[in-house]
Amino acid sequence: MHLMSTLSRRMEELTSDTVRMYVCGPTVYDLIHIGNARPFIVFDALRRYLESQGREVIYVQNITDIEDKIIGRAREEGVPASEIAARYTDEYFQDLERLGVKRPTHSPKATEYVGKMIELIKVLIDKGHAYVAAGDVYFSVASFPGYGKLSGKVLEELEAGARIAVDEKKRDPLDFALWKAAKPGEPKWPSPWGEGRPGWHTECVVMSMDILGVPLDIHAGGNDLIFPHHENEIAQAEAATGKTFARIWLHNGMLTVRGEKMAKSLGNFAYARDVVAEYGTEAVRYFYLTRAYRKPLDFSDEALREAKKAVEGVYDFLWAAEALPEEGEIPEGFSAELAALEERFHVRLSEDFDTAGAIGVLQELVGAAHRLRQGGGDPIGARAAAALVRRLAQPLGLFQRARPRAEGRTEELIGLLIELRAALRSQKNFALADRIRDRLSQLGIELRDTPDGTTWTIRKGSG
Ligand SMILES: [Zn+2]
Repeated sequence: MHLMSTLSRRMEELTSDTVRMYVCGPTVYDLIHIGNARPFIVFDALRRYLESQGREVIYVQNITDIEDKIIGRAREEGVPASEIAARYTDEYFQDLERLGVKRPTHSPKATEYVGKMIELIKVLIDKGHAYVAAGDVYFSVASFPGYGKLSGKVLEELEAGARIAVDEKKRDPLDFALWKAAKPGEPKWPSPWGEGRPGWHTECVVMSMDILGVPLDIHAGGNDLIFPHHENEIAQAEAATGKTFARIWLHNGMLTVRGEKMAKSLGNFAYARDVVAEYGTEAVRYFYLTRAYRKPLDFSDEALREAKKAVEGVYDFLWAAEALPEEGEIPEGFSAELAALEERFHVRLSEDFDTAGAIGVLQELVGAAHRLRQGGGDPIGARAAAALVRRLAQPLGLFQRARPRAEGRTEELIGLLIELRAALRSQKNFALADRIRDRLSQLGIELRDTPDGTTWTIRKGSG
């Protein structure tokens, strides 16, 4: 497995059997929007693919449960910040489930690590990388020669571009806060520098190093975090330990709406749960996983509708193929074709986790099975192709649903109507055949014609 690291700007081989992976998590002040869901889905799929290949993955995703936005929301609602954080942490876990994302191995909360954050800050002060200024503590960017190596930013240029420090406590406008002195009414913790709270960049670096140790195998997040968040994490970790912080850095591109980044502050967002409710979990996953994770991606209803249609197309194939009798033999040439496609699927994923290419291979598998049947191949071949699609798609969180079943005799009655409709069609009595389809549709039962016969689904919300 090779991954394109933002740090080295090259493909890096992932060598370890136990992969220690950290993905920046949510700040819990509101429900997550569909753009926030991109790293959760992409890196969840990466984790599950690595696990399916026999590796152990320790997957850590933090919860930022103390931050300005949480405090702001708590003020608005007149409740404690801890109440806001608890509410939206709970909602976040529910949303992960809606998105088909496996729970992280660890979901550390920043507020549970304040003691360890204070320890790190002490080390940085002792080593001359941080300084105290009237109750705040700042990291001295100039004290760390590697600053800028992740983002490719040059210190001199940053200095020139930085505005005159509004905060006169800083020695240098680029210095960032490790500890912030408490303001009236804000949550606070005791520290050697007075009461206050940790800065966000310190939260992530402490939780990741504490749980995973350095170097991490993979550190991931959205590319809006490269600077300053991840740059600042590297500076703290490497200044404190003298070791490499993370071997491979992965960053997903932003979700945009008509070319503009989706953001709460811009008001152009949709909550993840609403998008899932409208299009379904798999359409959302398909939408993300059929695009290169590092590139920007534009969100639109049309794109989601297309994803949903593509997902349904694969299910049409799966459910029809699985209903075929287990008869006949798989032609040798077809077995070889399946094996070659399976190989290509893994090659795609092992080259910078090209899920788009891999899903393209799954679509080719469906096409190969259709061609086999059209050429008069035995049903067992299509069944084998369907089984392979299911097995390969499993770590991507796609195509695992069984054909919906109806209770009691309904199943057989629908089967009987499908049989009658087929007979009517073969007699060219299309009017009556269509009436059966339309009446069933009114009852919430949708018929779908595929090369391998007619399948049906029960529409959500229909009895
Ligand atoms: Zn982070």
